[in-house]
Amino acid sequence: MTSLYTQTPLFFSDICEEMRLYIDTRRIEQLNAPVPLEEGYCVVHEMSESGGRFSSRAALYRDGKLVSENRYECPAPPGELENKRAAKRAAKISVYRALLSHFGTAMPWGSLTGVRPTKLLRDSEALLGEEGAKRLLLHDFDVSPGKYDFAKGILTMQAGLEPRPDELDVYIGIPFCVTRCAYCSFASFTPNVFKGAEEQYISALMEELEDAEALTGGRRVRALYVGGGTPTALSEAHLVKVLQRAAELARGADEFTVEAGRPDTITAEKLRIIKDSGAGRISVNAQTLCDETLVRIGRRHTTREFFDAYSLAASYGFDINVDVIAGLPGENADRLMETLYPIIELAPANITVHTLAVKRASAFAAANMEALPTDAATAKPLELACQALEQAGYRAYYMYRQKYMKGSLENAGYTRPGKACLYNIDNMEELCDVLAFGVGAISKRIFFDESRIERAANIKDLRMYLERLDDVMERKRALFL
Ligand code: SF4
Repeated sequence: MTSLYTQTPLFFSDICEEMRLYIDTRRIEQLNAPVPLEEGYCVVHEMSESGGRFSSRAALYRDGKLVSENRYECPAPPGELENKRAAKRAAKISVYRALLSHFGTAMPWGSLTGVRPTKLLRDSEALLGEEGAKRLLLHDFDVSPGKYDFAKGILTMQAGLEPRPDELDVYIGIPFCVTRCAYCSFASFTPNVFKGAEEQYISALMEELEDAEALTGGRRVRALYVGGGTPTALSEAHLVKVLQRAAELARGADEFTVEAGRPDTITAEKLRIIKDSGAGRISVNAQTLCDETLVRIGRRHTTREFFDAYSLAASYGFDINVDVIAGLPGENADRLMETLYPIIELAPANITVHTLAVKRASAFAAANMEALPTDAATAKPLELACQALEQAGYRAYYMYRQKYMKGSLENAGYTRPGKACLYNIDNMEELCDVLAFGVGAISKRIFFDESRIERAANIKDLRMYLERLDDVMERKRALFL
């Protein structure tokens, strides 16, 4: 049993994220009084504000006995939003430090559990200057110097690539896949579910897209991304329909990407359809070049099919992204490098190195996880991958983290010079609005002056999306019109 008492229940789930960095548990019991349980780990967190300062104290108990504690203090700024942010940070930092002092192993990103450390660094630099932001990350959040340099390098890569204020991005989601990967937590439906639904979905999507021009409010589309799922899982006729509509919206855009993804869905005819639509970038994802692992993670294609699909795609002149994953079951650093080196040889425009995240909605979460490498064993392969990519001339240009990610690490996109994907930068750094269409797609409107973001999330369930399309469209209109 793992339990938590906090005087600031508003931050309960944020504090739980810190606890999960060290304690392997999904369920954390919320206590109503600061009395530790006699069994398992328990955090008791207390918070006070006086004289313009927050004081946050975290005590860690094991089987009822105090094993470590930490007190963190910081200014309590005026302004509701800033004040709440500072309080949350104080709570998280004190809990992280109490855990660190007991467990002894520092996390690479310290107490940061958010998705976008580079955005935090960017915003902090704007507020505190470069040195102030560096101090905040290294000395308050306890980010390791290596990860700080990594994040700083990414910001340097992004300099000059930011969107203009009158630009936005468009995302179109195709929620179909030929099989479901064992680590997948996306809205993706396999043939047993989407049999017959594809036709209905495409009509609904086309209807939803009828609003697109009005929703842009006259702003220029800078990048358009057709993702999923696997867009190339669609029939050729449906792919033509979606991409023709996408091409209308992408006219004059800097970038038009179609995520092909699964090599077993890529055919010469589908590549021709993508090419004819004007898209210049696609993904052909390997994940691993080990056939045994591919079977284990529920992907139906083989390594051979990846190479065939890649060379076919390359013959059409696309800028190609290839995804690989560190921390897959049965794989170690050597295995990851055996995947990475042949991919580097292919010289794709982008290589994205993911770290396995075992999300609740994935098959892995429900299965026996013994074959998965330990969290600590995932850090080394990631470091080696980064070194190999840098030696080959690639540079990390965007990154993000996910919940339940192995070793509290990150996903990072690497690019050859001049080939960075703008959509990935915009989306991960939240630099411009995103108009998103399709099941589970999330539109974002960013109110820069007020430092806030509003989202309109489309329904994730396919049947409900079809039934409640009017609501879906209305929600987006309310956000953008
Ligand atoms: S290809 Fe992507 S969206 Fe489809 S099942 Fe695999 S992880 Fe999920």
